[in-house]
Amino acid sequence: MYFSEQILAREPSTGRSRAEQGRILIIEDSRSVSSVMRHRLESDYFCKVTQCASADVFHEVMRGKETFDVAVVDLNLPGAADGEVLDAVIAEGIPAIVFTADFNRDLRDRLLQKGVADYHVKNNEGAIDLVVSSVVRLLGNRDVGVLVVDDVPSARTMLGDLLRVQKFQVYEASTGHQALGILTRQPHIELVVTDYHMPDMDGYELTRRIRREHRSDRLRIIGISSSADRLLSASFLKAGANDFVYRPYVIEELQCRIQHNIETLAQLRQLRVAAFSDYLTGLPNRRYFFDEGPAEVAGRLERNESCCIAMLDIDHFKKLNDTYGHEIGDRVLQAVGAKLARRLDGSGHLLARLGGEEFSVLMLGVDIAEGAQLCETLRAEIASLRVAFDDRDINVTISIGLAEIAGRESFSNYLAAADQLLYLAKSYGRNRVYSETMLS
Ligand code: GH3
Ligand code: MG
Ligand code: MG
Repeated sequence: MYFSEQILAREPSTGRSRAEQGRILIIEDSRSVSSVMRHRLESDYFCKVTQCASADVFHEVMRGKETFDVAVVDLNLPGAADGEVLDAVIAEGIPAIVFTADFNRDLRDRLLQKGVADYHVKNNEGAIDLVVSSVVRLLGNRDVGVLVVDDVPSARTMLGDLLRVQKFQVYEASTGHQALGILTRQPHIELVVTDYHMPDMDGYELTRRIRREHRSDRLRIIGISSSADRLLSASFLKAGANDFVYRPYVIEELQCRIQHNIETLAQLRQLRVAAFSDYLTGLPNRRYFFDEGPAEVAGRLERNESCCIAMLDIDHFKKLNDTYGHEIGDRVLQAVGAKLARRLDGSGHLLARLGGEEFSVLMLGVDIAEGAQLCETLRAEIASLRVAFDDRDINVTISIGLAEIAGRESFSNYLAAADQLLYLAKSYGRNRVYSETMLS
């Protein structure tokens, strides 16, 4: 887990399953429905679920100290056959998802009026999956910032309320300039919903300006307008918006479009993490190391801080593969990677598996003496590592070459220097650190 978090730390928001540890209230008299739902939420999303099979149980739970992030509410319950519990849930300020068997347009209007976050109809087997997705979505929305831009206060508030019901962190701007300012200050904003007609700059111009700084794989834009001009949608989309909705909008449609955009960002984030991770160890891979390393080094050199780069290579790994098989070799690689990661966790240094049995650590803000000390620690930790195989333990050693990063050179030159020192560490007997200072 740590590894992808190292990558995700540089992402605008965490890609961890955002639903983790949600506290869910299921108010439902059908035991089978609530048990299936509970199982899904607990085992797939690590939520904490409280079940209430009647209005009485619900009221008893509410007298306790517990708080809840989302409630799934059946409208027809023993002791409250007409949605009374829903009103109580909303009065408690708990986001509500209605799950009901009886459904019609009139009820739909009333539910939206009350401010329910979502509703689903119990009419097929897949309905429970839809409820679970809604719960997970609401929990995830809590970390997502959305910016509403509209010069008309009532329109802005209406849209803001719609988003707040969905548990987004909502920011509001009444002008384009204000919107740009908020975007700079709030990097966790993932979506901008903007009106077209505004006094200082129109939505089209705002979209163009946002796109100069924020690409579509990090920030989504939805245009919105009550204009009768059918070409407005085209110009918004051409300027870089991802979607466009005419007013008056259907609430559910707008919600879905918003959600699809947020989901697209999450999928793109997962792709970035996958592209930057090493499949076997989960560590950042070579591509990530070469993408991030140069900028990290440049920043430190600018501030006159020193950096070091270390190349680590497992000793006689080929022999280990030949003796125990490739699969055990893989397990050793994973164990070595995990041990290095644990040791470097929180250090701010950049660890990567460059390929095969080679790892590298970019040590930031560290001089050669401190770097050598850290390398010695890493070497000793790996030497004491034991990987269980049948009824015995396998142990491995690593050799390390350590170079100081002094002047501005290409990143691969830094790495080549460390590689040459690694070669010396190998030739002097392996299981040792060879640093630049030892050359003289
Ligand atoms: P030295 O001490 O000089 O580093 O010797 P070595 O045997 O470790 O080095 P060499 O470069 O000769 O061999 C590296 C071996 O690592 C060869 C290759 O089969 C193995 N290897 C590379 N990638 C993987 C992998 O993903 N899994 C496993 N199990 N083995 C791998
Ligand atoms: Mg080796
Ligand atoms: Mg090698």
